[in-house]
Amino acid sequence: MTKEELIAEAFKAMKNSYAPYSRYHVGACIETTDGKKFWGANIENASYGATNCAERSAVFAAYSNGYRKDTIKALAIVSDGPRIAAPCGICRQVLSELLNEDTPIYLTNGKEEVTSCMKELLPMQFSQEDVIR
Ligand SMILES: [Zn+2]
Repeated sequence: MTKEELIAEAFKAMKNSYAPYSRYHVGACIETTDGKKFWGANIENASYGATNCAERSAVFAAYSNGYRKDTIKALAIVSDGPRIAAPCGICRQVLSELLNEDTPIYLTNGKEEVTSCMKELLPMQFSQEDVIR
């Protein structure tokens, strides 16, 4: 899948966003090394803390289907917001553990686009090495 195709898949996933509170719609798509794709969308809740972001939905779906960081090829995160869909702090922590540090992450709102990776998005992350002795 090309970068453009992966981004297009993330925009399709965004249509499944459930965001009645923020009206900020986000979609994500993970491509695996064997060519499978996993969509994620942000799913809000009246108890705001129970909300799940699109990129966590996508990575949890991939992991739930047996994929791991070495079998995740790329991630696209898209939004309909005024800026690129930069992951929130919780997502950066989760993705820093569940993706390789150099896995490409494409961020766009359809107007601007940035390619990044967890090494850039969360330097000096808190990780397994800090808690497993
Ligand atoms: Zn998030």
